[in-house]
Amino acid sequence: MPASALVHTVLHKDAYPAATRAADWRLHAACAGLPDETVFAHRPKPALPALRACAICPVRRRCLETVAPAESWFDGVSGGRLWRNGKEVRIPTDLTPEPDLAVDYPDHP
Ligand code: SF4
Repeated sequence: MPASALVHTVLHKDAYPAATRAADWRLHAACAGLPDETVFAHRPKPALPALRACAICPVRRRCLETVAPAESWFDGVSGGRLWRNGKEVRIPTDLTPEPDLAVDYPDHP
């Protein structure tokens, strides 16, 4: 699924029927409502709000599997990491988000 579809679903979740919402892991994304400038940031500092959201996101694994950053040459935040052209961008230690607080859900349906 293209990242734009992921964002569309997250940002427009009220447009989807209740049954679809319940089954769609994307609607549990902690980054829902964040602006594209942070979710698709190319540099660490603008990506921080999205990276902080990832730290508490219950669907982090699904996000990473679906976006498949390396295969899709993804630019932006997915699965708790910042990617540029599908390669992980190192986050300077002075910008590192809070420690990983993510709940390791078994895998949201
Ligand atoms: S892992 Fe991060 S980018 Fe992916 S849905 Fe969760 S908060 Fe958004």
